[in-house]
Parts: sequence; structure tokens; C-alpha cells
Amino acid sequence: MIKKKGLLLVISGPSGAGKGTVCKELLKRNPDFKLSVSATTRAPREGEVDGESYYFLTKEKFNEMIGQGGFLEYAQIYSNFYGTPKGPVMKYLEEGKDVILEIEMQGARQVKEMYPEAVLIFVLPPSLEELRNRLTTRGTETQEQVDERLSTSFEEIKQVKDYNYFIFNENNKTTESAMIIENLIVAEKNKAS
Ligand code: 5GP
Repeated sequence: MIKKKGLLLVISGPSGAGKGTVCKELLKRNPDFKLSVSATTRAPREGEVDGESYYFLTKEKFNEMIGQGGFLEYAQIYSNFYGTPKGPVMKYLEEGKDVILEIEMQGARQVKEMYPEAVLIFVLPPSLEELRNRLTTRGTETQEQVDERLSTSFEEIKQVKDYNYFIFNENNKTTESAMIIENLIVAEKNKAS
């Protein structure tokens, strides 16, 4: 019997949409899903563990991996690089495991080009007012920074057209958002079979 390949799921969304929380819920509910651990050249934040949150690499090492064709996709965000190590993702897919990439939009487009079977999901906030609320109530940024993030988010939301699906992540409805994604996965698998 030919073993079926796993599904490659890409999840993106603007800052404040809650994609990280949705991904965590999805993994909690589906322990068999594999979350790809990205590589980055940015410095670790407090509490981040090398090999779990990210693989923290020097720019030299990151470039070396690019040269070896070691990334499924990579992107520069401000002054840092982020990339998806190709090996583990391909291995999991071959083993029939579903893999989640939580990455931004430039990377998502590259994945779709390299691997057209990938399913791209865009997580949106319920409204722009709510997005502003979420970015403000984090309390970690000045008004100027909130406005800057909000205008970046507006630009990012325009990228939704490149995705297969979008979902609205309503307040306190993380489980519902995860369940919608689970249903999309089932639908995509049925399509492919
Ligand atoms: P942060 O520095 O806040 O952890 O992540 C910044 C942005 O990089 C987020 O939008 C995150 O989704 C994105 N990101 C994380 N890993 C990757 C990756 O491997 N490739 C790409 N293209 N983006 C990534």
C-alpha cells in the first residue's frame, strides 16, 4: 500500500490576529500534528529555548544553510532572517504526518510555489477596531508604536488574496478557530484522496 503524504499547512496573519494562540490550541488538540521549528538570526527573547522556539543561528550559519538549499523558504523581516528548515518538514510529510508552518506572507508565497499542495490559511482579527484594541491592550508599546504596527497589519491584511482560506479569530473563541482549521484539514484531505 502506498503511504499517503501528510498535509502541509501554512498559517499566517497580521500582528494582533492571534495566529500564535490558534496554532498552540491546534497542536494541543492534535498532538500528532508537527509544528516546524524555524531558524532565525534574531536574538532569543526571554524564555525562548534554542531548538524549541527557534533555532537561533548566526548570519553566517544562516547564509551557509541558504547556500546548501537547506530552507523550504526564508525571508528577511526588518534586519533579521527567518527560515523553515527543509529536511524535517519533508521527512514528516513523507511519513504521512501533517506539518504546520507558522510563518509570514513572503515565506508563505514561496512555500506555495515550491509545494503547490500546501494549504495556506490566513488568520484575521474580527474587525479593525478589535485589532487596534488588541495591539493597545498589550500595554507594551507606545501609541506611536501601536499606530505603526496597525499600519503594518493593514498592509499585511492585503496579502489575504494569496491564501486558500481565511478565518476570523473572534475574541475568546480560540477553540472554535482551531476547530474551523481542523475541518478545513479534513476537507482538504478528502479532496486529495
Ligand atoms: P518573531 O520574531 O516575533 O518570533 O516573528 C516575527 C515574524 O516572523 C512572525 O510573523 C512569524 O510568523 C514569522 N516567522 C517565524 N518563523 C518564520 C519562518 O521560518 N519563515 C518566515 N518566512 N517567517 C517566519
